[in-house]
Amino acid sequence: MFSVSGVYSSKVLKFFIIAVATGLLSGCTTTPEPSSQSVNKQKPASVTDVVLDGYYEPLPSSGKKGYFVEQLAPEIYFFSTGVYNNLFVVTQEGVVITDPIKGKGKLLKQAIREVTTQPVRFMIYSHSHIDHIGDAHLFAGEGVQIIAQVETGKALRKYKDRNRPVPHINFGTNYTLSIGGITIELIYPGEGHGKGNSIIYIPSRKVLMYVDMATPKSVPFKNFAYTIDIASHVRGIEKTLKLDFDVYVAGHLHRTGKREEMKEVLAYHYASKKASIEAIKKVSFLDVRVRTKTKDVENLFGTYLDAVAEECYRILKPEWKHRLMGFEAFARGHCDVWISYHRTHKAP
Ligand SMILES: [Zn+2]
Repeated sequence: MFSVSGVYSSKVLKFFIIAVATGLLSGCTTTPEPSSQSVNKQKPASVTDVVLDGYYEPLPSSGKKGYFVEQLAPEIYFFSTGVYNNLFVVTQEGVVITDPIKGKGKLLKQAIREVTTQPVRFMIYSHSHIDHIGDAHLFAGEGVQIIAQVETGKALRKYKDRNRPVPHINFGTNYTLSIGGITIELIYPGEGHGKGNSIIYIPSRKVLMYVDMATPKSVPFKNFAYTIDIASHVRGIEKTLKLDFDVYVAGHLHRTGKREEMKEVLAYHYASKKASIEAIKKVSFLDVRVRTKTKDVENLFGTYLDAVAEECYRILKPEWKHRLMGFEAFARGHCDVWISYHRTHKAP
C-alpha cells in the first residue's frame, strides 16, 4: 500500500545554431521542439561558429519516436524530448510520474508503456508553469493522485486551467511518498524559480529533479528564467547541493546532469554577481552623461545601466563563454538582474 508520509557563407547557419542552443536552455518558455527531421538535417558547427557562440552541445536526434528514455537506476527512468525532460518511477505498486510536459503527454505515456504495464498512481508537479505540466489533464483520471507544493496548488486554483488540474495533496516544506519500496522526498527549498518550485529527491538512488534552476553546461535562461528573487534562486541551488545525489534532472536538455555540473552553474551565479559589482564600481555615471548627448534623463539612465551590464558581460566573457551554453544570449540579462538587485535589495 501507499504510505503518505563554419564560417558558413550565410548568417543563417549561425542563427540556426543559436536558435537550437537557445531552445536547449529554455526555462519555462514555449520553445517549439525541433522535429527529429530538423535535428537530423542540422549541420555540424564549424570551429568559427564555436568561437562565435561559445560552448554548446548539439542536440542529438531523438529518432522517429521523438523522445529518449534511459534507466538511471533500478525503478528510475529519465524521459526527454531533447529540449524538455522529466523522470518517472516504476514500482510493483504503480508508476509515479513528474511534470507531464505540454504537448508531450502522449509520448510520455508511450515511454512508460515501453517499460511497464503498471498504472500511473501519482503525478508530481515540480511547479505550476504551463510548459512543464501542460499535459497533466491526460493523466488526471481515476486513481491518479496529484501532489504539489501548496503555492503551486494556489497558483493553479487561480489559473483555472483545465489542462492543469489542481493537486489532491498540497504539501508545505516536505513530503514523503513511499510506494513499492521506493521513497520519494519532496522538498521545498524556498521561492527560487517562482513560488512552489520543489525538489523531487530519491535518496536511495541518489537521483533528484529540480526544474528550471541549473541546466547542465548552460547559463540560466533569460533574466535567470524570469525569477523574481535572485537571492532565493541561488539559495535553492545551494540547498540542493547539500543533498546526497550523483545525477539530476533539470527539466531541460537531452541528458541528465552530474553533481559537478550543478556546482558549475552555481559558480556562474556567483561569478555574474561578482562581475556586476565590479562593473558598478568601474562604470562612471558622470562619464556616461558626458558621452551621452541626450537631454532625456530616462534615456541617460538607461544608457548608463546598459554600459554597466556591458562591462559586467565583458568581465565574465573570458571565463564563461567557452564553458556554458547560452552565454552570448543571456549573460547581459543576468548582469542586469544583479545590477537591479544591488540597486534595490542590497548595495554592493
Ligand atoms: Zn518554470
